[in-house]
Amino acid sequence: MSHSDSSAKLRPVESMTSGVPATDGAGVRMTRLIGTSQLDQIDPFLLLDVFQTDNPDDYIAGFPSHPHRGFETVTYMFAGQMRHKDNAGHEGLIGPGGIQWMTAGRGIVHSELPEQEDGLMWGTQLWVNLPSSEKMTAPAYREFAAGQLPREKRDGDIEVIVIAGVTSQGTIGAVTDRPTDPLYLDVRLPEAACFRETVAPTHGAFIYVLAGSICVASNQPGASSVVDAGSLAILGEGSAVEVKGEGTANRFLLIAGRTINEPIARGGPFVMNTDDELRQAFSDYQSGKF
Ligand code: FE
Repeated sequence: MSHSDSSAKLRPVESMTSGVPATDGAGVRMTRLIGTSQLDQIDPFLLLDVFQTDNPDDYIAGFPSHPHRGFETVTYMFAGQMRHKDNAGHEGLIGPGGIQWMTAGRGIVHSELPEQEDGLMWGTQLWVNLPSSEKMTAPAYREFAAGQLPREKRDGDIEVIVIAGVTSQGTIGAVTDRPTDPLYLDVRLPEAACFRETVAPTHGAFIYVLAGSICVASNQPGASSVVDAGSLAILGEGSAVEVKGEGTANRFLLIAGRTINEPIARGGPFVMNTDDELRQAFSDYQSGKF
């Protein structure tokens, strides 16, 4: 490890949340971790939902037709599959291990419906804000099946799926061309293995633990934090993150994006900068301009 790397300021855990139960769409039960009264946002991330259930009653109704404007939705499926259809004729299936990075931009109307009637449905949706200059961009999709996502192997049997951004070891992720310059890594970390990664100081960053238990290091002696499965840890200032596996099989998402620092006007499925723009979004949607 180079001197400059090992002397980087480690981003410590600033706070943790296990989210709140939420119901959305036509009755999908999930846990909301970002976008709650406790945790409004981690700029540029507006929302994080995790659905993880093998009870079809919790997911079968899905998310029928609804609009979005002004941001991006990133859907990542761990188990089960979701079919997506929009009003512009775009349709796709997000299967296990697959990801869809959707730029809603100036507006889409879409449905997201489970393509299964039983079994485990486990996945997550992240909302990534867009800067004002990009909010009215044309809608776009980036879709990758599990086998299309770049994977990086590191010493200690560490495996990293690189969904977005570029790792310190040079692996280029599936998505690299977004305005918030996001880093989105899915890391499998065996017990006692140590994972270290650069995270730009300009970026808001968090970790969500999918399985097992991890320990996030800090430069301050005695200030490391254990984070268990189902918990989200907001990372403080710094330029790198260092994580050690605590359980026998640990898996977590490391997500970071450049802070936008603009006013937010949020109304359900629309996220704009001003109330006027929000009213315009509702009016455009109601008059069929999406
Ligand atoms: Fe949606």
